[in-house]
Amino acid sequence: MSDLYEQLQALVGSTSGEATVGPDPVNAPMIRHMVEALGDANPVYVDEAAAKAAGFDGIVAPATMLQTWSMGGLHRKAPSPNGGWGAALVLLDGAGFTSTVAVNCEQEYVRYLQTGDRVTVTGLLESVSEEKATGLGVGHFVTTKDEYRDQDGELVGTHRFRVLKFKPGTGRNATPAKEDRPLRPRPPTTLDTQWWFDACKEGRLLIQRCTACGTLRHPPGPACASCHSFDWDTVEASGKGTVYSFVVTHHPQAPAFDYPLPIVLVELEEGTRLVSNLVDVDPDDVEIGMPVIAELVAFDDELTIPQFRPQGSKA
Ligand code: ZN
Repeated sequence: MSDLYEQLQALVGSTSGEATVGPDPVNAPMIRHMVEALGDANPVYVDEAAAKAAGFDGIVAPATMLQTWSMGGLHRKAPSPNGGWGAALVLLDGAGFTSTVAVNCEQEYVRYLQTGDRVTVTGLLESVSEEKATGLGVGHFVTTKDEYRDQDGELVGTHRFRVLKFKPGTGRNATPAKEDRPLRPRPPTTLDTQWWFDACKEGRLLIQRCTACGTLRHPPGPACASCHSFDWDTVEASGKGTVYSFVVTHHPQAPAFDYPLPIVLVELEEGTRLVSNLVDVDPDDVEIGMPVIAELVAFDDELTIPQFRPQGSKA
């Protein structure tokens, strides 16, 4: 066993500093904002009478808000280096395991929290794995277990969180050779969009047209947004257009693509827009209004989709 691993094992079971006291009691406004954001219409979260009718003493918080009540906000302090996760972090960072990726989380709920509850949380370092070689890099899986208690010290829930702390640049899949690349991700298709991809395979870039009012539309869909007619046919696009907007992505990198990757929103000369890639261009030279032209590219036996190049560049 390495010295580092032994030092990490010695920390298992310890906590990182004192229990954290939630900055606010469980309260109706935060619950309301959360359920609005999630679109959860269960009335026990917002309506006192409905909560009582369901057997609660009053409004309760969704169980999944557990972590919310102890969050330290934007200016939270770093974990104490005197034990637990904070101390493991110091050891791992110091040994070069500086990258962190969240792996998974498991929560257990003992009871619903209700307005007025004061939550405190204690973070326990539950386990640290031996050194593992993973696709991302060589590292250790670190699991923490936070125990949430109410104002009476009763356990209300637990939150187990696992991360991989790894050495950057040591991954098996750091830079896959082009021939070993996975295929491009498949676009999700439906009965309303499959025809468009089928036409790409036949070498045609089509635009859906409402036969009731003539409006062109993309992406394909069942009904016309202008007149709501379900009747449609298609017109074939010339493939010429201009860059309406774009981003150049650097990270995160999906192994099927080259980076930096210009992703463009192209306005076709017929007037509809579509998202695509731009090739044969220095990413620094991409600009709004740039004239571009589509080519239909068969990336593999199943996938043919348009990508664009600057007009006038080599075909
Ligand atoms: Zn229409």
